[in-house]
Amino acid sequence: MLRLAIQKSGRLSEDSLNLIRECGISFVNSSLKLKTESTNFPLEILYLRDDDIPGYVADGVADIGIVGENVLVEEGKQSLTVEKLGFSKCRLSLAVPKTMEYNSIQDLNGKNIATSYPNLLKAYLQEQGVEADIHTISGSVEIAPSIGLAEAICDIVSSGSTLISNGLKEVERVFKSEAALIANDDLSEEKREILDKLLFRIHAVQRARKKKYILLNAPNESLDEIRALLPSIKSPTILPLAEDGWSSLHSVVNEDDFWEIIEKIKAAGAQGILVIPIEKMII
Ligand code: ATP
Ligand code: MG
Repeated sequence: MLRLAIQKSGRLSEDSLNLIRECGISFVNSSLKLKTESTNFPLEILYLRDDDIPGYVADGVADIGIVGENVLVEEGKQSLTVEKLGFSKCRLSLAVPKTMEYNSIQDLNGKNIATSYPNLLKAYLQEQGVEADIHTISGSVEIAPSIGLAEAICDIVSSGSTLISNGLKEVERVFKSEAALIANDDLSEEKREILDKLLFRIHAVQRARKKKYILLNAPNESLDEIRALLPSIKSPTILPLAEDGWSSLHSVVNEDDFWEIIEKIKAAGAQGILVIPIEKMII
């Protein structure tokens, strides 16, 4: 059985659990439990504080884990990374009171900076040739300037609204982060095989998230032009409609190119376009 550590309750929890569920792995999730076993896959889930996950995976208490890269790198455990997972995207940024005049990072020389990420901040300041006092606190970093604890902060930002509501402005981006799957580097062969099976499923889920299934009707004379505009896994499916001279075309498109392609195929004569999410994709 493979042991997976995920965050018990926080910003990574829901997406981590969803990913496992989308991989078809069932388990009973009780907020009171610290450990659950899957009923249909050799996986045990441990629910932990996110800060503890890199250490537990490095020590082999858990075999694999899901954690933010910010925590992973802060703990010096980036070598455990298997792959990025594409959710919980955020950044670690420096922010100062919005009334402070700020021209460049050099303005932070000699200042007091509060953060929960002293190692990441220290490395960044060194790289930038700035000397500042780092004040490590474990939470509520945004209020540090207003209570006189520090002159600047370095904290996790996603939309920036927390900074604004605390009278701060973002001035430098220190580190970009997303959730990552990590693994102990000394897994047994059996556990490695289970991890490979899990990765196979994760890839199928991730691939599907980026794609949409598209169906459309078109007059036969437009089919060549439409086919040229639509990528597909191998080649599109084309079926005749009951009405003479018309066909139905099925294919798969990238979420990112989606709107651009739709406009072009419409202009080429496509009608009744349906776009459907794909749950899993194995190629
Ligand atoms: P724990 O109680 O487990 O120690 P925590 O309070 O340290 O939790 P959370 O705030 O739940 O941590 O954040 C967990 C991770 O989610 C962060 O380390 C970061 O990678 C990511 N994260 C944090 N804030 C955001 C955000 N606003 N948007 C997206 N991802 C975020
Ligand atoms: Mg934490």
